[in-house]
Amino acid sequence: CGIVGYVGGQSALDVVVAGLKRLEYRGYDSAGVAVLADGGLASTKKAGKLVNLEKALVEQPLPAGTTGIGHTRWATHGGPTDANAHPHLDNAGRVAVVHNGIIENFAGLRAELAERGHDLASETDTEVVAHLLAEAYSSTGDPAEAMRQVCRQLEGAFTLVAVHADEPDVVVGARRNSPLVVGVGEGEAFLASDVAAFIAHTRSAIELGQDQVVELRRESVTVTDFDGQPAEVRKYHVDWDASA
Ligand code: GLU
Repeated sequence: CGIVGYVGGQSALDVVVAGLKRLEYRGYDSAGVAVLADGGLASTKKAGKLVNLEKALVEQPLPAGTTGIGHTRWATHGGPTDANAHPHLDNAGRVAVVHNGIIENFAGLRAELAERGHDLASETDTEVVAHLLAEAYSSTGDPAEAMRQVCRQLEGAFTLVAVHADEPDVVVGARRNSPLVVGVGEGEAFLASDVAAFIAHTRSAIELGQDQVVELRRESVTVTDFDGQPAEVRKYHVDWDASA
């Protein structure tokens, strides 16, 4: 339902959780975050309101990192449990992904992944994406190219935002029939399902077009279509009232 991604110089956890709070008005049943730190990936997710997640983060703090993603979930496939909350990880725990929307062909993809030896830990349509991204990354070594390969296999409506522990300075995103906006800051960048998540930090935004993939780094935003063709990006200024 709500998505936030961050890469920059601030605590990713602080930016992501604050962004998720700005998206609470949309409604949700679970929330989770993942942070890249110390060469690894750490994630916490909880059914219920954001306060549950915040409590869990106080009881078991995540390592400090400056790249992270977060999600508030409105369950469509699988009940509102901790296990079904996003982010979803691959079996090695190197990839984390959050998703809005529905992957229509997840059942077939799930069966194929199971045949290839993947263990699926949730009942969601989303989890297949984490496993597919891990496979695609291991053959391409490029998180944006991995995302493009995976998107070409997906049917339905999706906003996806993902991180890979091997690429601690990169957040990738993709969209089809579901919104995704980039916030461009000074030495930092944001991804969100709604500009409300980042207008406290920057008013400079790029709306992702249909069937596009974005690679976010501190100093660059690269957008292509699902085949890797560079896409034109148009920056605009978000001028509506932050309290609206
Ligand atoms: N279909 C996904 C799920 O049920 C994402 C739902 C959402 O948009 O929050 O986990």
